[in-house]
Amino acid sequence: MHYTLTNTKGEVLDSSQGGDPLTYLHGAGNIIPGLEKALAGKQAGDKLQVTVDPAEGYGVHDPALVQQVPKRAFQGVPSIEPGMTFHAQSSQGPMRVTVTAVQGDMVTVDGNHPLAGETLNFDVEITEVRAATLEEIAHGHVHGPGGHHH
Ligand code: ZN
Repeated sequence: MHYTLTNTKGEVLDSSQGGDPLTYLHGAGNIIPGLEKALAGKQAGDKLQVTVDPAEGYGVHDPALVQQVPKRAFQGVPSIEPGMTFHAQSSQGPMRVTVTAVQGDMVTVDGNHPLAGETLNFDVEITEVRAATLEEIAHGHVHGPGGHHH
């Protein structure tokens, strides 16, 4: 499918236009639940607009995942700037955090997905639908163009 993702302000966050269409394996959780649900049973040529609430998208924004850490925790990083991402260890295992603010010696990091809490609008055009191979179903992802090569 080709898709364009916009937020509630109409800003384009992501789009496949001008590139290859996105290929995914339906039912395998390759894409966010709200979009996958809306695409069930769709055919090539179908165009649809889908609005996905945070709970069916990248989750609601969890304030507990926003933390302040001292700069010295970022050893080997010469300059910490908002927007930088790091892998961190948390009580729930490894997570990706984004620096949202730097104040003096303290750095604010946010472990939420960058799109957590956002209502997402997808403009979708289905370009092709095909049956998955048994191998794809076993792996839980698409092989070939737009998918995994291995
Ligand atoms: Zn595979």
